[in-house]
Amino acid sequence: MRLVLIGPPGAGKGTQAAILSQRLGIPHISTGDLFREHVTRQTPLGQDAKRYLDTGELVPDHVTGGMVRQRLAEPDARCGFLLDGFPRTVPQARELAAILDCAGAALDAVVEFTAPEDIVVERLLNRGRPDDTEDVIRHRQRVYERQTAPLLDHYADILLTVQAVGPIDEIAGRALSGLSEAARGPAPHPRRAP
Ligand code: AMP
Repeated sequence: MRLVLIGPPGAGKGTQAAILSQRLGIPHISTGDLFREHVTRQTPLGQDAKRYLDTGELVPDHVTGGMVRQRLAEPDARCGFLLDGFPRTVPQARELAAILDCAGAALDAVVEFTAPEDIVVERLLNRGRPDDTEDVIRHRQRVYERQTAPLLDHYADILLTVQAVGPIDEIAGRALSGLSEAARGPAPHPRRAP
């Protein structure tokens, strides 16, 4: 299964991605984690990306797209993956479609996690990552609304929206049952009586 998770920072995508990837047996690919690994290892890409991560801006599409293209070419992602944090812009979505097209593949579903802004800001303040100061958090919310929310229309045909408030397991349960329903497709028309 090839999935994309979308949602404002703090909606719990990372937590849900870890559960869903384990339950569905597909690798969890988080662009935020990939960037943070590059920053820690002080690779040229990491040195370039650091200032964007520190301020909550998006790393330029060509840098992000190249990194994802490379990750998706690894053998564990051949039959399925769960992308967390990518795509975050419409051009990134086009790049992903191009990568998948070349492999004769397509996305199965895009799962959107939603939660009220006050709840997500509070969750992030409690998480305590270096880029989790209140200013940067609020800025990331605005970046999400401006640059990422348009993807919801872009993916309207395969979008599954999940309310991300409540116990973690319940949220995961909602996502998994929505996905299996979507996989079954629309209910068949009732057969006409002979
Ligand atoms: P996240 O861990 O998903 O909250 O991402 C942390 C930071 O990594 C973001 O604030 C961006 O600076 C950067 N980042 C992650 N994914 C992307 C992406 N798809 N496009 C551009 N920047 C990204």
